Amino acid sequence: MNKTMILVVEDDRSIQNLMTTTLKAHDYRYLTAMNGETAILEASSHNPDIILLDLGLPDMDGIDIIRKIRTWSDVPIIIISARSEDTDKIEALDAGADDYLTKPFSVEELLARLRVTERRLAAMQGNQMTGSVYLNGGLRLDFLAGCAYLDEEELHLTPIEYRLLCLMAKNTGKVLTHTYITQKIWGHSWENDVASLRVFMATLRRKLDKNRDGVQYIQTHIGVGYRMVKVE
Ligand code: CA
Repeated sequence: MNKTMILVVEDDRSIQNLMTTTLKAHDYRYLTAMNGETAILEASSHNPDIILLDLGLPDMDGIDIIRKIRTWSDVPIIIISARSEDTDKIEALDAGADDYLTKPFSVEELLARLRVTERRLAAMQGNQMTGSVYLNGGLRLDFLAGCAYLDEEELHLTPIEYRLLCLMAKNTGKVLTHTYITQKIWGHSWENDVASLRVFMATLRRKLDKNRDGVQYIQTHIGVGYRMVKVE
């Protein structure tokens, strides 16, 4: 397989250096851009496999960059934001970003995010997400039959829990925001919906941990949303 090509969009030279040094040491190929205009140009002319995008760029709003790239490409976008830009982060995920890193982040965190994204890319290319059966650890979803199994035992889910689980499964590896999920499940995103979502998610997660083996299929991202993780 070809080495993964990463487009690093960051105007802070020291952070950019940290990222490119890390990428080089771990056998990734990379391109860099210091502003939004170059980022869009590089993304369109070189088709990177993954984009690391700083939300605070001098010339363009990061959200606009994501929207622009999304008009022609599904390339995974991992946004990089400062802690003070929490609402931007959620807006960026809603605009089609896949994941996020919050500054300051460690080299390990960066590499972990990239690994999750690469696994997601491999799964997308291998069509594991579009077939009629979904497999993840002991979890199996049969989309045609509308059934979910954990260690070959059928899970008793309410219709909403089942829809939630399917939505999370079809987006394994991707962080889904509260707004995104409630829009998909209820068709709108009112404050009550987010509160209901928490309740449904808590029950669903309890059912997924019935063996009490601590295996976590669904991660909580406080204040942001949830992510289905690929269990080894
Ligand atoms: Ca910046």
